[in-house]
Amino acid sequence: MAETLSGIGVSPGVAAGPVAQMAAPPVVPTDATPAGDPETENQAALAAMKAVATTLEERAARAPGEAASVLAAQAMMAEDPTLASKVSERVQAGKAAVTAVVEAFDDFRGLLAAAGPYMAERVADLDDLRNRTVATLLGVPMPGVPDPGHPFVLVALDLAPADTATLDADRVRAIITEEGGPTSHTAILAKSLGIPAVVTCPGATAIPEGETVLVDGSDGSVLVAPDEATIQEALAAEEAKLAALQSVSGPGRTADDHPVQLLVNIAGDRDLDAAAAADSEGVGLFRTEFLFLDRPNAPTLEEQQTVYQRVFDAFPGRKVVVRTLDAGADKPMEFVTVPDEPNPALGVRGLRTSRRHPELLEQQLAAVAGAAAASQAKVWVMAPMVSTKAEAATFAEQVHGHGLPTAGVMVEVPAAAIRAHHVAAACDFTSIGTNDLSQYTYAADRMAGELADLLDAWQPALLELVRLTAQAGKTLGKPVGVCGEAASDPLLALVFVGLGVTSLSMAPVSVPGVRAALAAHTLAECRGLATIALDAEDGRTARTAVRAATRS
Ligand code: PEP
Ligand code: MG
Repeated sequence: MAETLSGIGVSPGVAAGPVAQMAAPPVVPTDATPAGDPETENQAALAAMKAVATTLEERAARAPGEAASVLAAQAMMAEDPTLASKVSERVQAGKAAVTAVVEAFDDFRGLLAAAGPYMAERVADLDDLRNRTVATLLGVPMPGVPDPGHPFVLVALDLAPADTATLDADRVRAIITEEGGPTSHTAILAKSLGIPAVVTCPGATAIPEGETVLVDGSDGSVLVAPDEATIQEALAAEEAKLAALQSVSGPGRTADDHPVQLLVNIAGDRDLDAAAAADSEGVGLFRTEFLFLDRPNAPTLEEQQTVYQRVFDAFPGRKVVVRTLDAGADKPMEFVTVPDEPNPALGVRGLRTSRRHPELLEQQLAAVAGAAAASQAKVWVMAPMVSTKAEAATFAEQVHGHGLPTAGVMVEVPAAAIRAHHVAAACDFTSIGTNDLSQYTYAADRMAGELADLLDAWQPALLELVRLTAQAGKTLGKPVGVCGEAASDPLLALVFVGLGVTSLSMAPVSVPGVRAALAAHTLAECRGLATIALDAEDGRTARTAVRAATRS
C-alpha cells in the first residue's frame, strides 16, 4: 500500500520518477591522524582526486552544451599539478590525507580568488571539488545535486541558491525538500524552471534511494511507491487541467474587463526562453543578484550590461522591472555582505548595502541604463528592502539621473507599507514583496519551514499591509504590483486585485492559472473576497472562507 507524505506545494505540476537523495557536504574531521605512512596517505589523496576527475569527465561526456564545458573544466582542475603538489607537501609533513586535501584546496582557493575575475568565478567549482574529494576519502555519499544518469525526483533537506543554480530542468522531474519554506529559494527556483516542488515535507529524506514517487506540486502530496495505474491517472488529469487553463489567453482581465497586468519573475538569463515565450505583458521582477551569487567579486559593468541586454532584447516592447542587487540574509554575497552579522535578515541587506558600497549600485544602474538605451524594452528599475521615504527619494533620484525614467521601490518592510502614501509619493511605482513582508510582519524567518503557518501570505495582518500599500497607490495614481510568491496563488490573486493591486508577477508556469481565475470573477467579487479575507482570524481560515465564497 502506497504511503502518502504531505508538505506544502510550492510549484504546480504533477510528476513521477525515482528518488535521488542529495547528500550534505561531508563533515571534515578536525583531528584526523594519518592512517599510514606519508606515501600511503599521498597515494590515497591523489587516487581520490583522480576518481573525482574521472567521474566529472564521464558526466561532461553525457552533458549538453555549456554544462559539458563547465564539468570538463572542473575535471581539469582536479588534475592540476599545483594542487597535487600542495597535497603531497602536506602529507610529507605528516598530515592525514583528508587534512592535506582540505588545506591544499584552501590554499589554491586563495590563489584563484586573487587571479582576476575569470579565475575567481571558479572558486565555487573548487569548493565543490574539495567536498567531493573529501567525501571520496571518507567513504561518505557524494555531496551536491546527484547525477544518477537518468531523470529523477530530487530529495534534499533543503537547497541552497548555489545548488539550485546547477539544476538541470530536463533531468529533475520534481523537487521535494524536508525543510525550506514556501518562500525559500527552492520554491522560487523550482517555479522559475517549471519543476513541480513540495517543501516542508516531513519524512522526505527517509524515502529510499531509487523508490518511485508521485509528486503533486499544487496540493503538496507525495505518494511513495504508487502503482503504475495511479501514476498514469494523475498525469492524465494534470494534462486535462493544463489544457483547460490554456484555453484563456491574452492580457489579464477580470470577468468585467478590469485590467490586471500579468507579468513574470525571472532570475538571471537562464530561464529567459520560457519566460519570454510565456503569454505575459513582460517581467515584473528581474532578480539580478543571481548574476552575483557564488563570486568573490561583482561582475564588471560590461558583463552586467551584456546580460541585461540579453534579457531586455527578449522582451521588445514589453515592460521589464529590474530589481537592483538584493544581497544579504538569504542571498549572501562574499564581496558585499557584512561578515558575521548577528542577525543578517535585519542587517545591511538589499538597498542598505549601498550605504557601504555606493559604487556597486552606481555601476549596476549604469549597466542597466546602457542596456536599456540599446533595447526596445520598457525598462523600470526598483530597489529592494526600502524602509523610508528618504530612501525611496534618493533611489528614485539616482535612477532618474541615469536617464531611466521609471523608478520604484519594493514594499517588503512593514514600515514602508505603513507609510506607503509617503514612500509611493517619492517614486513612480511600488511592488510588494510578500516573501519578505511576511517574514518581517510575523517575525518569522522565511527559510523556517516549521513557521510556514505564520509565513502564509493569507495571514490577515499581511493582507492589511497590502491593502494600505494598494490604497496609497490608488490615491496617488501610481501602479502597485505584487511580485512575491503569493501572486502565483490564483485564489489569493483575486484577493490582491480586490485590495487594489494593479499587477501580479509570478513564475511563467503560474500565469495561466491566475489568468483563468481572474477571468472568472468580476472586480466587485474580488473586492468582496478581499473583505472576507481581511475579516478572517488567521491565514488558514481566510483561505478556507475565500475558497468557499468562490464556490457558492
Ligand atoms: C519578496 O521578498 O517577496 C521578493 C519578491 O523578493 P525576494 O524573494 O527575492 O527576496
Ligand atoms: Mg525580498
